[in-house]
Amino acid sequence: MLDLWTEAVRSIEPFVKPAHRDLWLRPIECVAIDDDGHIRLRAPNRYHKEWFEDNFLPSILKDLEARAQRAFKVDFELVEEAVVPPRAVAVTPAPERRPAPSASVPLAARPPELMPRYTFDKFVVGPTNQFAHAAARMVAESPASRWNPLFIYGGVGLGKTHLLQAIGHEIHLQHPEWSISFVTCEKFVTDFIGSMMSQKRSSGGSSMEEFRARYRTAPDVLLIDDIQFLSNKDSSQDEFFHTFNALHYAHKQIVLTSDKLPAELPGVEDRLRSRFTWGLIAEVETPDLETRVAILKRKAELEKVTLPDEAALYIAAHVKSNVRELEGALLRIAARASFQGQPITVELARDAIAKLVANAPAGLTIEAVQREVAAYFDVKLHDLKGPKRHRAVAHPRMIAMYLSRKLTSMSYPEIGSRFGGKDHSTVISAVRKIERLCAEDPAVRSVVNTLEGHLRQP
Ligand code: ADP
Ligand code: MG
Repeated sequence: MLDLWTEAVRSIEPFVKPAHRDLWLRPIECVAIDDDGHIRLRAPNRYHKEWFEDNFLPSILKDLEARAQRAFKVDFELVEEAVVPPRAVAVTPAPERRPAPSASVPLAARPPELMPRYTFDKFVVGPTNQFAHAAARMVAESPASRWNPLFIYGGVGLGKTHLLQAIGHEIHLQHPEWSISFVTCEKFVTDFIGSMMSQKRSSGGSSMEEFRARYRTAPDVLLIDDIQFLSNKDSSQDEFFHTFNALHYAHKQIVLTSDKLPAELPGVEDRLRSRFTWGLIAEVETPDLETRVAILKRKAELEKVTLPDEAALYIAAHVKSNVRELEGALLRIAARASFQGQPITVELARDAIAKLVANAPAGLTIEAVQREVAAYFDVKLHDLKGPKRHRAVAHPRMIAMYLSRKLTSMSYPEIGSRFGGKDHSTVISAVRKIERLCAEDPAVRSVVNTLEGHLRQP
């Protein structure tokens, strides 16, 4: 049985760069394969385990399952049960298994903001994102050499965050000792305002210094998501201008994503807009039919869902707006199939999609949702759409955003604009939050169901 494992590993070795082979593949040891198909692996530490799982395990298992004609289950044991503090330089492999190239280099932990599913190998390339993908790979392979900054722009749900994170993963793999900062622009702004306020309160210099050390000095690579969030925020823009200059001057790679071209960013100073164009600008566009099919098939494979070609084609032909919607549709269809104990078929997909579309009560507007929610919670319509942040209005507002999304065909940016010009990312996080609360908290679920019931009545 163990030979099977060795052969499966060997089958993928030709596709792995020699340095990566030594660093990431060889240190994983197969301890046993039980008769019931249970594979037990030993990894030097959690960090190796995660890399192995993300990058090699799926291909090895595929090979193994093809050879053995059966399914396997994998468990890891860790040689070193080290607790890795976030961003700390702490994990060194056990001495006897220490991979040669890293012998003297301390490995930085993978930044916790980088999600395992946003890697290059999980990104499907087609004509509409080919250039952005190539640019991202180029920057990841030789950071800060020519294309600085890289500016990735395009509509919602088209893979900007995915590419940005993939760059982080790849650079981290190539330069495990580098400090990689991934932040949303919103976090940059919040951090900045936070340190300004605590600076004022304590009238000491430390918090601003800390902020600047964190953003200007520490990172070898700065990845900032959704830079359009800087619009009309003058002091944050000013701070970002200096952050940008410091990093750029020190030859540190900067990558930005945005929903608009630099020239079209409203309320952003010219000096910053012009800096955004210094390097390379790459657009991600709505994927074409073939790419949508390819994405569905890849997602199905990753989720271990059997998706026949005709069903993939059917879904891709009907869900066109963006990749996030495509993913959502696939997950709903897969959930339905598994619930009914049936395979996914075109009929089942058609049914589920029809339900999705029919789910939106005809003619329901965002304004109607807002009125209903405002009346239910007894808040002013004006406040529901306004900027106030205290819970008494913020909570109803999130519910109204969630219901607008669920019951009308409006996109995230459209919903944001009807709530007093909020950013689409605000709407997305509101929707996710209410989804989570509905799953966890029966009280929230019941309120949401009641409101939904009212709104569905003709
Ligand atoms: P954006 O940041 O542009 O709004 P995201 O990067 O968050 O979009 O992408 C939305 C979802 O779609 C993510 O789950 C992402 O993995 C997926 N996705 C987008 N483009 C692709 C692609 N080309 N291949 C695979 N998945 C993709
Ligand atoms: Mg994004």
